[in-house]
Amino acid sequence: MDGIKVGVFGGTFNPVHRGHLHVAQGVQSLFGLSRVYFVVAATPPHKRPDEVTPLAHRYAMVCLATAREVSFVPSLAELEPEPSPYTIDTMKKMERLVPAGKGAGGADAPAASRLFFIAGGDSLLEVSSWREGGRLLDGYNFVFVARPGATPMAFEKCLPAGVLGRVRDLTGLDRKRARSKIAAEPAGESRIYLVDAQAPDISATKIRELAAAKGGDRAMRKMLSPAVRDYIRKTNLYGGG
Ligand code: ATP
Repeated sequence: MDGIKVGVFGGTFNPVHRGHLHVAQGVQSLFGLSRVYFVVAATPPHKRPDEVTPLAHRYAMVCLATAREVSFVPSLAELEPEPSPYTIDTMKKMERLVPAGKGAGGADAPAASRLFFIAGGDSLLEVSSWREGGRLLDGYNFVFVARPGATPMAFEKCLPAGVLGRVRDLTGLDRKRARSKIAAEPAGESRIYLVDAQAPDISATKIRELAAAKGGDRAMRKMLSPAVRDYIRKTNLYGGG
């Protein structure tokens, strides 16, 4: 599978944390992605606007966390015309950023087949219910990353039967074997990969709780980039200051 490949990491990023950065790095190196776009959800479809920290803060933190990594690109794709919170619309917009090209065997590899949507294993439970979930899973590559402490990803129960033949479960393989399996996939076709990136056990929920509690600063330190930690402290974003 030759040519430019691009990751699309969608999230609320409230706040972006080291778990996210670890996942992006791990998937980037495994799949040879030229760039990873961090697409910040404007108002996640499943959340009320008043439940979520304003987009401007979440985007600012993504910019800070990715500032030193040139291949990690903050994105507000959801706000671009036509604004939409749905992943299917974001992926169509992202296609413009990836040239179609030739794959290893000289076959045409359409732009969609060069996009890799990155998500945690917990998203596997929901993806079929996302708008045009079937079309999404058919048209684009997905990389579901196991979350630490979570039960193994039971993809047979979560995904529509029609896509199971395109699932590649790479969990439990060492990186060399996982890479060679990925390289053996024909260009121009999309797959649903399950991977284990040894991501640290961090969640944004935990960070918000620590920020709001007294004495949570020390534990938070390990979970955040220094610039993001400073930002949260300066703005007292989650209270507790
Ligand atoms: P919250 O605790 O508020 O639900 P979160 O930490 O899960 O937030 P999101 O912004 O919702 O962060 O995450 C974006 C994507 O990254 C999701 O698909 C999520 O499953 C995945 N993700 C987040 N943290 C990890 C982690 N530690 N390991 C693997 N995947 C993760």
